[in-house]
Amino acid sequence: MLQKVDFNLNKKLLTRAELDAYDPESESWQKQFARRYTHHAELDGVLNNVENVNETVYNKFAIAITPYMAKLMDRDDPNCPIRLQYMPSHHEETKPGFATSLDQLGEEGDTVPGTSVVHRYPRRVLFLVSNTCATLCRFCTRKRMVSQPSGSVHKDEIELSIDYIASNTQIEDVLLSGGDPLTFTDERLDYILGELRRRAPHVRFLRIGSRMVVQLPTRITPELCAVLEKHRVQMINIHIDHPKEITPLLRQRVKMIQKAGIMMGLQTVCLKGVNDSVEVMRDLFMQSIEMGVRPYYVYSTDMVEGAAHFIVPHRRMLELYEGLRGWISGPAVPTFIVDGMGGLGKLPIIPSYVREEPLLDGSGTTIKCRNYAGKTVEMPGLGQDYSLPTQSN
Ligand SMILES: *Cc1c(COP(=O)(O)O)cnc(C)c1O
Ligand code: SF4
Repeated sequence: MLQKVDFNLNKKLLTRAELDAYDPESESWQKQFARRYTHHAELDGVLNNVENVNETVYNKFAIAITPYMAKLMDRDDPNCPIRLQYMPSHHEETKPGFATSLDQLGEEGDTVPGTSVVHRYPRRVLFLVSNTCATLCRFCTRKRMVSQPSGSVHKDEIELSIDYIASNTQIEDVLLSGGDPLTFTDERLDYILGELRRRAPHVRFLRIGSRMVVQLPTRITPELCAVLEKHRVQMINIHIDHPKEITPLLRQRVKMIQKAGIMMGLQTVCLKGVNDSVEVMRDLFMQSIEMGVRPYYVYSTDMVEGAAHFIVPHRRMLELYEGLRGWISGPAVPTFIVDGMGGLGKLPIIPSYVREEPLLDGSGTTIKCRNYAGKTVEMPGLGQDYSLPTQSN
């Protein structure tokens, strides 16, 4: 029997009975946001085998877990793929020889002074608008900014960022990220997106990276979708690391976004113990295309402080890719990426299936081809240039 619980109070759900009885759809997303767990001890009455981590963990990175996410966690198993992503662990203590930087991608070096715009690549920018997310991932690459108490980037910085994008007519693609841009109110998003569209008509592609639909699906409302549609947001990339995160509620809210005419992509972080298995990845990406969400990138875990235990070795990532390409639908296969340290940028991790090799007799080269199942064939003709020789007078 479930206990009768009074949810009128804005309080945390500290017992299993309260959490079991809680319906995330029964109240606004803001109210659920206020009920987030922010200390591991708060989960002691809800989950078994909660690790009693040192308080020092909190000096590096805060904890925040929505009740919806806590409901998805296995009650007993600390190795549940959702618990591994969100519950703090002693493994976060810095590993000897591992990067100790909180900005190992060198984003600060590529940030336009006074703004929160990272302008690294030609013609497109990353606009970091929010300092927080609904639930904080232990492996987050932006730990340096995401666990700030303020929640949003300073208003002046946002204004200067919009100025920068408005005055640089070569920028044709703006990616709003953070933190999670959807932690803003609809009104604030309406303002930022509206200003971008009004003042930067040269921007052809406007996209948002958000994990909100995964961590707090009720954030996606018809009102929010109307704002996104009004400002012609063309793409939303969501972040899912394990099939367990795909729930009926998530599917329903994904559909809501799609009905606003927005294409959706999936980003996944390759995490040891969570999804470093061919079976898990095949299932995740097939479930994703079933929802009409196109797998876009699988990132290697960034070398951010406190995330060493999540790193999947590069050679294993190549194997995982080989377990997908050819074995599942082509549209379900994402590009694997390592983000190079110090601002090198995104680098594709691609096993080589087609290779040009010199012939032993020195007479040229041949092309050696290997298919997904390991069958090989040589295609020497692929190394030739068949265009007609140009006439010379
Ligand atoms: C990932 C990223 C982008 C977008 O890259 P795409 O490959 O176009 O998705 C833009 N700027 C920065 C700094 C990024 O890290
Ligand atoms: S959702 Fe993304 S930005 Fe937010 S904590 Fe997780 S990894 Fe970091």
